[in-house]
Amino acid sequence: ALPVIHAVTPTYTRPVQKAELTRLAQAFRQVPRFHWIVVEDSATRTELVARFLARCGVPYTHLNIFTPRRFKRTGMPRATEQRNVALTWLRQHRDKRDAGVVFFADDDNTYSLELFEEMRSTRGVSVWPVGFVGGRAYERPLVSGGKVVGWYTGWRPDRPFATDMAGFAVNLQVILANPRAQFKRRGSQPGMQESDFLKQITKVTELEPKANNCTQVLVWHTRTEKPHLANEPKHRKDTVVIEV
Ligand code: UDP
Ligand code: MN
Repeated sequence: ALPVIHAVTPTYTRPVQKAELTRLAQAFRQVPRFHWIVVEDSATRTELVARFLARCGVPYTHLNIFTPRRFKRTGMPRATEQRNVALTWLRQHRDKRDAGVVFFADDDNTYSLELFEEMRSTRGVSVWPVGFVGGRAYERPLVSGGKVVGWYTGWRPDRPFATDMAGFAVNLQVILANPRAQFKRRGSQPGMQESDFLKQITKVTELEPKANNCTQVLVWHTRTEKPHLANEPKHRKDTVVIEV
């Protein structure tokens, strides 16, 4: 049987949340052998997300953990706690017999279906280009003789793994074999979360290049504009209550 792709999506309540999750679900439901781990940044699992997931057509697990307010400041890494809760869940609910791949899929990115077939053969840790990051049209691992030898990036080329969260996947057995590997708050700057995590589980020389030796962009670090809601009524509300 094909290894199961486990996509970990941190998400939080805001006007575009359901639209973002809808866009993701419509891609993910077309991927065979897929399991969606949705982790809400919330004190509870919200009704909106619970209802959405129940009808979305993707096999899923719904988790939640609230980011402490002291970590919710600009310039601080996002969704650290949510990704770690997903790692804990995987270590509790998957074992040596389970063939799988783990991928971190933020809720606002854009995913090509081809990406999932590329990552499915990940034996250790695989990498590929990501569009619209690092201050460039794309960032990518540089490959020579089938090995990663450096990084094409416009931002902090000194990072040991100059890749975005959307630029790598990890074999499930690597997650299980490194039970202490997790995303770090302490001493971690935004943009270093990927490197801080990856150096706990792999080496640059061991990375497996995907997407035709890292020459194709199959995922884009898109960001959704905030909708204008300045004309929302304060008093004369609509006659029906509609979830958006
Ligand atoms: N996120 C979250 N809580 C927050 C902010 C972000 O759970 O307070 C999630 C968000 O839904 C996304 C991921 O963390 O899945 C990365 O956040 P964002 O897309 O805002 O980061 P950026 O695109 O700037 O890297
Ligand atoms: Mn984003």
